[in-house]
Amino acid sequence: TMDYGKAPEDSAIVRDWLKKHEAGFGHFIDGAFTAPGETFDVLSPASNELLGRVTQGTEDDVDTAVKAARAAQPGWAALPGHERAKYLYAIARHVQQHARFLAVLESLDNGKPIRESRDADVPLVARHFYHHAGWAEIMEDELPGTAPHGVCGQIIPWNFPLLMLAWKVAPALAAGNTVVLKPAEYTPLTALAFAEIAAEVGLPKGVLNIVTGDGRTGAAIVAHEGLDKIAFTGSTEVGRRIRRETAGSAKSLTLELGGKSPFVVFADADLDAAVEGVVDAIWFNAGQVCCAGARVLVAESVAKRFEELLEKRMRQLRVGDPLDKNTDMGAIVHPVQLERIRGLVAQGVAEGAELVQGSAPEGCFFPPTIAMKVEPASTLATEEIFGPVATVTTFRTPEDAVALANNTRYGLAASIWSENVNLCLDIAAQVKAGVVWINCTNVFDAGAGFGGYRESGFGREGGREGMMAYLTHPKPKARKPEAVPTAPVGQPGE
Ligand code: NAD
Repeated sequence: TMDYGKAPEDSAIVRDWLKKHEAGFGHFIDGAFTAPGETFDVLSPASNELLGRVTQGTEDDVDTAVKAARAAQPGWAALPGHERAKYLYAIARHVQQHARFLAVLESLDNGKPIRESRDADVPLVARHFYHHAGWAEIMEDELPGTAPHGVCGQIIPWNFPLLMLAWKVAPALAAGNTVVLKPAEYTPLTALAFAEIAAEVGLPKGVLNIVTGDGRTGAAIVAHEGLDKIAFTGSTEVGRRIRRETAGSAKSLTLELGGKSPFVVFADADLDAAVEGVVDAIWFNAGQVCCAGARVLVAESVAKRFEELLEKRMRQLRVGDPLDKNTDMGAIVHPVQLERIRGLVAQGVAEGAELVQGSAPEGCFFPPTIAMKVEPASTLATEEIFGPVATVTTFRTPEDAVALANNTRYGLAASIWSENVNLCLDIAAQVKAGVVWINCTNVFDAGAGFGGYRESGFGREGGREGMMAYLTHPKPKARKPEAVPTAPVGQPGE
């Protein structure tokens, strides 16, 4: 059993909440929880203990949720923006009030260290609702002539369960859409807790509906005729399938898929800072991050020194109990994902990669890993591992660095390290990535658009671009061409 004692002040309330729902969770539809249907078990990956039983959503459940969202949509969209903003502000405040509860629940369900869920995930969730409350408030002035899509189907992954919900729900609601959201089957619990928060703040019924289940439930959402937009974050494979299935339909689509982001270290970089950067880039959330800086590209002249520093730092990482405040890296989300990581790493070794690894406890954990001697075309250099595995490759010139950085099917993010900011800016413009960080990495803000190129997907989340993804922009009405004013003869400037 997980040692809840490590975060005693917060975990008792989580334990009580899980006990209260012992009989199983239903869906959240039309402002209330349904009775549980056929359920599946949700386990904590770190301890394998049962956290809850969650309903496998059927086509009928999805249909009921879409109908509730449809019925609620005109009323929600008709509210003045500042009225919708009140609800979003209230959600943000309640997320802050319940921050510790949500952080412990997230760490139990996903396996991520409590330090991350408490200091990164949950504060960013609140920030997204505050930011988008602001958009709702100023929409009529700032985004004139736009209209919400209507009802949005949203399907999210397990790596940042509550944060991905916030990225999707906050802009959708701000813009006047209503939502049917499906959390990932490995990590549905914070979405269900969030539904309680929505009810607590009195969000009008039907505006937010949460249907749980696996890929079959997701497929039922994608196929439903009553939806105007699908927003998906997850694997490239499922993203491709959704793209095929929505092609030719009236549904608009945004996809946020995988990545294999480069992390470029030039010879004049502050190497200690860059080493800390790698820790954030690939060991944050055990590398289960779509924009993880998985490919470290380092200037040949400093490579030996950099690798020594990196290995030393990696060996200091503490891997273990997610609820322990001293833990740097927690569990892998699910044994299936652990096996996937192991398989890819074994393939990499068979192709000639050499591994340097830290240590990890028995169970659903994978040690922090650096892979050297990785050929550019090999599995480890090209496949998204979604685990704590960094590859290290050297380069000679800035041109080589750019060529290596862009040698990928993806284009989500990049990180560039040099004390020469002109070089950084020059390289940033040449790297094909939706987000480029200079001398930092994995920095997120609700006000900055996030999204990718190529196989990383399309559409942006956050900021003005993110709002636009939840609005249609009807063409401006055709106007009679205005007569071009001509200056009367003899006026100044003639
Ligand atoms: P996935 O794409 O299978 O799952 C993501 C979401 O899509 C889940 O909610 C899932 O239930 C749903 N889903 C699955 N099949 C569906 C279908 N046919 N139609 C509609 N929805 C469907 O991803 P995964 O299995 O959780 O992870 C596999 C790999 O995906 C990972 O190893 C990683 O490479 C990648 N991944 C990327 C991200 C990201 O943020 N870009 C997040 C998670 C996983």
